[in-house]
Amino acid sequence: MNIENIYKEAGALLEGHFILSSGNHSNRYLQSAKVLENPATAEILAKALSEQIKASGTEVDTVCAPALGGVIAGYELARALKVRSIFAERKDGKMELRRGFEIKKGEKILICEDIITTGGSAMEVAKIISELGGEVVAFAALANRGFCHREGSDTSRKSNCKLLENIPFYALADFEFAMYEPDNCPMCLEGSVAVKPGSRT
Ligand code: ZN
Repeated sequence: MNIENIYKEAGALLEGHFILSSGNHSNRYLQSAKVLENPATAEILAKALSEQIKASGTEVDTVCAPALGGVIAGYELARALKVRSIFAERKDGKMELRRGFEIKKGEKILICEDIITTGGSAMEVAKIISELGGEVVAFAALANRGFCHREGSDTSRKSNCKLLENIPFYALADFEFAMYEPDNCPMCLEGSVAVKPGSRT
């Protein structure tokens, strides 16, 4: 399965001249929600991810995703693993389990995102799961932006990866894009103007 092609065909892998949330510029951008707008594609991707997790022998009771971005990926992964699916959401800036979602002491929780960049939101969820007595057994994402090390990849962990090093991280593919500081961006030097991907329809 060629993950990059699936993203491209779904219009989820954009090519152009983009301003990333970090402020750096890139010629590529992942619009992760686009790859999940077709439920059949979401199912295929989540099934492939579930097979990696099953093969590793990692036991999972529940998948927990940070809202909003991780919810669909988390739900589909839970379906493929045949386990429960919950999500955490931000209230007044702080991640919380709401809507009656509960976890038991020692419950084995996998934290799932659509894409892991530095893993900040995933780690916020990991923290509340631990505080509630759950055990974080793994992180997972459909796509790894290349800052963290996923199981089975030779991409090394970068200093800005926030995921805990002793917990495995499963993802389908690494998407490592060239990044440029605005003053040093070859596309800017050629006179092109960078756009924020979210601002385009
Ligand atoms: Zn630029």
